[in-house]
Amino acid sequence: MKTRVLLSPHFSLDEFTASQTAERMGRQIVVEPGSDVFRNLQHLCLTLLQPIREALGPVVISSGYRPPWLNEQIGGSPRSDHMSGLAADITVPGKTALEVAEAIRGMGLGFKQLINEHGRWVHIAAPEPGEIPRRQELTIWKDGTRSRTTEGLHAVADLQAGGGA
Ligand SMILES: [Zn+2]
Repeated sequence: MKTRVLLSPHFSLDEFTASQTAERMGRQIVVEPGSDVFRNLQHLCLTLLQPIREALGPVVISSGYRPPWLNEQIGGSPRSDHMSGLAADITVPGKTALEVAEAIRGMGLGFKQLINEHGRWVHIAAPEPGEIPRRQELTIWKDGTRSRTTEGLHAVADLQAGGGA
């Protein structure tokens, strides 16, 4: 029987280590309590995800910690904050990604990066503990088959209609 390790009142470690890709590869993602990744995940939960959960209701983690082999497998950025446990991809049932991202922006939290990804989920990253939050806001969207990144939080349909203006 596995014990549930809590990172903050509403988030447990297993939510950040579950991966269908890893499962298909027959590999497990292990994060040792007390490790750097564990402490980063705790920091992400305590400073960002827990306040978001308290304001918006249950938060679903679609991608949490990614060891480098997993990040590579799913085509993540080579400098992805997921690899240090400082980022998560989230959704909130009943809300669009843009609604979630705009609500988070309005909360005044100290995030490093807040991204509306394809209008489907929100990527949120925490700065390293002690670093000044950059509060960068971006939208990643598809222009035909090309992936594009635009400053600010936008509805993906508006960007596609405007050709990325
Ligand atoms: Zn992400």
